[in-house]
Amino acid sequence: MKYISTRGQAPALSFEDAMLSGLAVDGGLYVPETWPQMSAADIAALAGLSYEDAAYRVIRPFVGDTFSDDELRGILARAYGSFRHPARVPLVQTGPNEFIAELHHGPTLAFKDVAMQLIGQMFEAVLTRRGERVTIVGATSGDTGSAAIEAFKGLEAVDVVILYPHGRVSDVQRRQMTTPAESNVHAVAMDGDFDDCQARLKDMFNDAAFRGEVKLAGVNSINWARVMAQVVYYFTTAVSLGAPHRKVSFTVPTGNFGDIFAGYVAKRMGLPIARLVIATNQNDILHRTLQSGAHRKEGVVPSISPSMDIQVSSNFERLLFDLYDREGEAVAQLMAELGQQGGFVLSQGALARLRAEFASGACSEAETSETIRMMADTTGEVLCPHSAVAVKVAREQGASGVPMVALATAHAAKFPDAVEAACGQRPNLPPHMADLFARPERVTRCANDLTALKTLIREKIAR
Ligand SMILES: *Cc1c(COP(=O)(O)O)cnc(C)c1O
Repeated sequence: MKYISTRGQAPALSFEDAMLSGLAVDGGLYVPETWPQMSAADIAALAGLSYEDAAYRVIRPFVGDTFSDDELRGILARAYGSFRHPARVPLVQTGPNEFIAELHHGPTLAFKDVAMQLIGQMFEAVLTRRGERVTIVGATSGDTGSAAIEAFKGLEAVDVVILYPHGRVSDVQRRQMTTPAESNVHAVAMDGDFDDCQARLKDMFNDAAFRGEVKLAGVNSINWARVMAQVVYYFTTAVSLGAPHRKVSFTVPTGNFGDIFAGYVAKRMGLPIARLVIATNQNDILHRTLQSGAHRKEGVVPSISPSMDIQVSSNFERLLFDLYDREGEAVAQLMAELGQQGGFVLSQGALARLRAEFASGACSEAETSETIRMMADTTGEVLCPHSAVAVKVAREQGASGVPMVALATAHAAKFPDAVEAACGQRPNLPPHMADLFARPERVTRCANDLTALKTLIREKIAR
C-alpha cells in the first residue's frame, strides 16, 4: 500500500514513511492510493472477535509490509491493553435504536487514546528497528497532550515534549501531563495562549537545522496512522448492531474532522453506514459548509466542549481530495484560497457529493447543557459536553428503523465544572485516577520565545 499527497506534488510513501513524516513535503496530507475493500463476508467474520483481533483485520491492508503479522498483533495487544474496559469501545443503549459508543476508556479518558496508544507502539517498533531516536513535540489545548504523553511515556526510542498554555488548561488536563514520572516525558507550560504554542511549534518545525539536530517528529491529528486507528471502532460497533446485514448510522462530535473522516473511510471500505452525521458546537464551519457550500473561517468562540473549538478542520482536506476526484491541483488551489482569502466555495459537483455522504447539525451551549441534564435524568448516563453535542444532533438526524450511534469522546470527569453546572452531579474520576490530585507534578515554565524553547528542549533530551 502506497500513500499519496492530497496536493499531488509529493512522492508516494510507504505506510512507515507516511507515519514518520506526518505532513507531506508539498503541504498536503497523506491518503492511501486506493481504499482497501472488505466484503460482506469479511465484515460478518468480525462478529465476536476481540477489539484487537478485529483491529488486526481492518488495519492489516493499510500497513503493508511495514509490520509482519506477529509484529502487528503485538503492537495492537500493547496499545489496547492499556484500556480499562475489556470491550475497549463498549456500546450503551440509551433509547429505542439509540446507542452511545464509549471511546473514553483509554488511559487519559478521551478518544485521542484510541489512536495515540497505537501510534506510540508503532513508532517504537519502527524506530527500534531502524536504530533511531526522535523527539516528539506537540502543542495542546488539553486532551491531545496527555494522550501523547500516555502513549509515549517510558518508550526507548522517543522523547516527548508537550507545550501547553500556562494557566489555560483544566486542572485534570494539566495534572495528566505533569504527573507521569517517566524520564522521557517533558511537560512545558508556555506563556501565552494555545495559538502561541502552535506558532512556536511551527517555528521549530520550520527551523531545518534544529529539526535535524533533535530529530523532531509530530503526531498531530493529520497523521494518517491516527486516522487509520479510528476506522476500527466503526466496524466493531456496526457489527455489534447487525452489520453487514443491517445498516447503521453514526453521529460524530467533530473538531479537526479526523474522527468522522475515519467513519467515511470505513464506508469506502464497504461498511454499510446509512448516515454519517457531523455534529459541531457553536464553532460550526463544517455545518455551514454543508448548508451553503461556502467553507469560510470565523473566529473561534470558546465553548464548554473545548476540544471542538476550531476555526478550520485540518482533516477536511482529505475529504476534499475525494470530492474533487483526487485531483491534487484542485485541492492545492482550495487550500491556497483558504489561506489567502479565509475561505472558498465548493463546486456544485463537490457540494452534491459532500451532501450525499454526510449530514450535519450544530448544537448551542444551552442545548449542550440541556442534553447533559436530560440524559442524566432519563437514562442515568452522565455525558461530557462533547458527547452531549453528538447526542443532541443524533436525535435530530436519526431515521426510524436504523440504529443511530452517537460517539462519546470523553469521560464526564474530564469536564467536571460544565457537567455539574448542567445536571447537578459532579462526575468522579475513575478509581485508577482517583489519586491524580495527590501525585507530584513535574513541569518546566518557559517564555513564549523560540530560542528559549530550543535551549530547553536540547537540555531535556540530553542523556
Ligand atoms: C479531539 C476531540 C474531538 C474532535 O475530534 P476530531 O477528530 O478533531 O474531529 C471531540 N471530542 C473530544 C473529547 C476530543 O478530544
